[in-house]
Amino acid sequence: MKSLQASHNPLSNSFIQLEVLNTGDETISSLPKFSEKLRALGLFPLKPLNINTLQINVGKMCNQTCKHCHVDAGPDRKEIMTRETMQQCLDILASTSIQTVDLTGGAPEMNPDFRWFVEEISKLGRKIIVRCNLTIIVANKKYNDLPEFFKTHRVEVISSLPYYSSHKTDAQRGEGVFNDSLKALQLLNAAGYGVEGSGLILNLVYNPSGAFLPPPQGSLESDFKRELKLRFNIFFNELFAITNLPVSRFLDYLMVSGNYDGYMEKLVNSFNPEAAQNVMCRSMISIGWDGYLYDCDFNQMLDLKINHGLPDHIKNFNTEQLNQREIVINQHCYGCTAGAGSSCGGEIV
Ligand code: SF4
Ligand code: SF4
Repeated sequence: MKSLQASHNPLSNSFIQLEVLNTGDETISSLPKFSEKLRALGLFPLKPLNINTLQINVGKMCNQTCKHCHVDAGPDRKEIMTRETMQQCLDILASTSIQTVDLTGGAPEMNPDFRWFVEEISKLGRKIIVRCNLTIIVANKKYNDLPEFFKTHRVEVISSLPYYSSHKTDAQRGEGVFNDSLKALQLLNAAGYGVEGSGLILNLVYNPSGAFLPPPQGSLESDFKRELKLRFNIFFNELFAITNLPVSRFLDYLMVSGNYDGYMEKLVNSFNPEAAQNVMCRSMISIGWDGYLYDCDFNQMLDLKINHGLPDHIKNFNTEQLNQREIVINQHCYGCTAGAGSSCGGEIV
């Protein structure tokens, strides 16, 4: 078997990712194709069920540089959604019945038009989710009031917290992230987030720190709830366990550490047909910072746009055509169907 580490620069870019996934390497090519797995279930080509969510990436700028980040986000990223593109998203919302808007980044709050965008979506009466990395709330005074801003617009907050101790959290997300995350969680709790009866939803995300699948979501949630309450008097609603997909920085890690083959085998061997029925791309459209359309956030990072001749930009959004589309899949999709499955909302089954 030829060495992947020797033949590819693992610290390069997403072009490498597709090259690796399509390589002639015998170990990798011996893995069954994801499309064949779907075909055996009568699910190929993979088609949408409906579009109930727009997941919008408002920019790749972030105050953190987490090791597992599939966006390759960081303070030096300049890609930012303009107000004009946001307005195009609002026009689509106003003319469709899409009920949920899921705002992501980078740190979405760093987009200078973030608050205006949330206010405008709120006026349309849609459910708003913000993927908040927590530390942004305490990173700078101008963000300290975010919990109150979120509360005003009944935003649902989803935040990563790899573990309830500093060691594992800081190892994955950077020095000092755990303590800053606790401060942010306490501010969110003080605003009513995660507090029973408040109706203000604060969900946490767990993702593994290495080349393994997440433990069962239910038991992990119980552990997090117990320990965060006991140690820090912190509350939250649900914990989502998310599998790391072999994309971007996590793919780099797999390559550098020699774990790529083993991890892919693990994903393939854990293929769950029930999870395959309900992968998140069947009910959402992902929109990039520049307005291009994708089947999901991972395809966005791999630059796999909506395909098969359909208009692939927000300015040409056509719900009817998009509901008929064939979803673009590749070997990275095994990350969504392993074990209990994985989506932006955690386990699928
Ligand atoms: S994982 Fe989230 S918080 Fe971490 S660098 Fe990526 S976008 Fe930023
Ligand atoms: S990676 Fe994207 S396209 Fe592939 S199964 Fe998951 S959600 Fe669907």
